[in-house]
Amino acid sequence: MAILRKSFLAALFCLGVAVPVYAQGGGDRAAADITAAQNTLKALKQLGAEIKARQQGAPTTTGAAPVASLYQIEIDYSQTPELKDWVEKQLRPALEAWYPRIIAEFPSEGYTPPKRFTVTLEANGNGVAATGGTRVTANAKWIKQELAKGPQNEAVGALIHEEVHVVQQYGHVRGGQRDPGWLTEGIADYVRWWQFEPASARTVVRPIKRDGTPASYTDSYRTTAAFLEFVAKHHDPEIVVKLNAAGRNSTYSPDLWKRYTGKTIDELWTEFAVTLTK
Ligand SMILES: [Zn+2]
Repeated sequence: MAILRKSFLAALFCLGVAVPVYAQGGGDRAAADITAAQNTLKALKQLGAEIKARQQGAPTTTGAAPVASLYQIEIDYSQTPELKDWVEKQLRPALEAWYPRIIAEFPSEGYTPPKRFTVTLEANGNGVAATGGTRVTANAKWIKQELAKGPQNEAVGALIHEEVHVVQQYGHVRGGQRDPGWLTEGIADYVRWWQFEPASARTVVRPIKRDGTPASYTDSYRTTAAFLEFVAKHHDPEIVVKLNAAGRNSTYSPDLWKRYTGKTIDELWTEFAVTLTK
């Protein structure tokens, strides 16, 4: 049973903006809590399936969405009250619908998802958005620029990416191996671009980048996300779930790719790279 330190310094690199943050780990847990955690996960998985079914218009057994009573997502737009409509009509419904769904998608032993997290829209923020533990901040100026582009904008999707970070909660187990930053960001973008956003919104990964160097799985964000999708589709549908669990338990190692797929990460990348259009 992994013992997480109660607090630790972690650096999450969000949308190209490096922000050092304090993240709260899961806290010390007794082995007896495992069964309780497993039961919670079972219930969450069921809830995730129900929500998915409801979104597809299927009748469900539990009736109205219990999300609000299970989780609390506090969105503070007091610095920019002009964003109220966007928050209440677009951001909040998306974050509430997807939080239990992301939790259900990524179970791991001993994991209890945060019951509450905050999103603060900062009038004088920088960059795009960042997450530290259960605190998400977003740059309201950037959000307004996005909203000015019309319905095809990145504002809600960027916050879905941050919501994945809240679910990830990659701690650092003493003596363990910290998850590489490109993978943390790749998993967040995998959920965002391959599950949340419509396929038409995805950008194409090019084998050669603008600076003339070849693309790599360490490019993070959308490139890593597309690579994860490829490996999940062709080799192991559970690969992202397993890598996320390794991130939480500080058990990541490059060998995991070979263990799960029979191929090294470089072999997998070569296979993926030939599918990219020049
Ligand atoms: Zn990020």
